[in-house]
Amino acid sequence: MIVILHKSSTDTDKHALALFFQENNLAYKYIDATKTFVVPKFQQEDKIKVFKGIEKIIPIDTPYQLASKLYKTNTVVEVNSSKIGDNNFTMIAGPCSVENEDQIFQVAEFLHNKGIKNIRGGAYKPRTSPYSFRGLEKTGLQLLHKAAKAYNLNVVTEVLDTSLIDEVAAYADIIQVGSRNMHNFYMLNELGKINKPIILKRGFQAKVVEWLLAAEYIMSGGNEKIILCERGIRSFDPSSRNILDINVIPLIKELSHLPIIVDPSHATGIAKYVTPASLAAIAIGADGLLIELHPTPAKALSDGDQALSFEEFDELLKQTQTILSAINKKSDLETFTFKLSR
Ligand code: PEP
Ligand code: MN
Repeated sequence: MIVILHKSSTDTDKHALALFFQENNLAYKYIDATKTFVVPKFQQEDKIKVFKGIEKIIPIDTPYQLASKLYKTNTVVEVNSSKIGDNNFTMIAGPCSVENEDQIFQVAEFLHNKGIKNIRGGAYKPRTSPYSFRGLEKTGLQLLHKAAKAYNLNVVTEVLDTSLIDEVAAYADIIQVGSRNMHNFYMLNELGKINKPIILKRGFQAKVVEWLLAAEYIMSGGNEKIILCERGIRSFDPSSRNILDINVIPLIKELSHLPIIVDPSHATGIAKYVTPASLAAIAIGADGLLIELHPTPAKALSDGDQALSFEEFDELLKQTQTILSAINKKSDLETFTFKLSR
């Protein structure tokens, strides 16, 4: 159950409710910023109605509460001039890793010329082997930020560890939590305390309920600016890097108010499948795409096999435009002018 107090409610109103929850041995959390109590596993509205200072009571029977569709109909995450969610289409693209100034400036200029508003690039990289290229770290953040600001783009980059949140937040407009960190509850908790949009990638073995509970960790800290990202789940079959769980997009739309974007690059692992998988993702309702793009994929220091070249990305954009117009979805690409029809 979610209990939202009136803005004008008093500390006495709050304490009375807290006492009731304590006396009834109910686990609860109070979120100061929104004057909201979250009380999972409790749904007896009539017992709460009698308290003073209450604006709204929302009974919810799932383990996740704030991430539930019953809490809100739609979340739109606003990042500078971009709106993510609620029938807007958002494109985020860039290299797996920031490698050098020339590379990231080439990508930034290219995206800017295409009317794209968001550049991604890893500076701290989660790599399976400690001997692989692990990113330029702070220098990478600085180069990415410099290139992005030169071309008026939002910076999307991953935070790999709790100790790096402040550093990454200083350069990022949107912070990415990678698949391997979706279960890093301590870090999720800390991300709940900052005022920056978070892309929360699905753990590659995470159930939907676990993913939504990871979002709940961040939300229950007071940060509701979350964008879910499906990036493929691990399967028995090595034919492609992961399995893109396309079903999860309408499923999440039914269960949650949070926007969901798709990363077909890590899902397929193979550049030639990125465009078809992207089109399917848009057609089924994804709020955006996260695409790996490199000026020379064959020379990429990480994930070159799945990176699109500029020419391939151009083709993806053209085909994207066709699907978006067919489903009448607005886009942050300046070339798109479709208006919301519902
Ligand atoms: C990435 O975006 O480069 C990345 C490492 O993604 P994931 O966490 O989905 O593997
Ligand atoms: Mn990558």
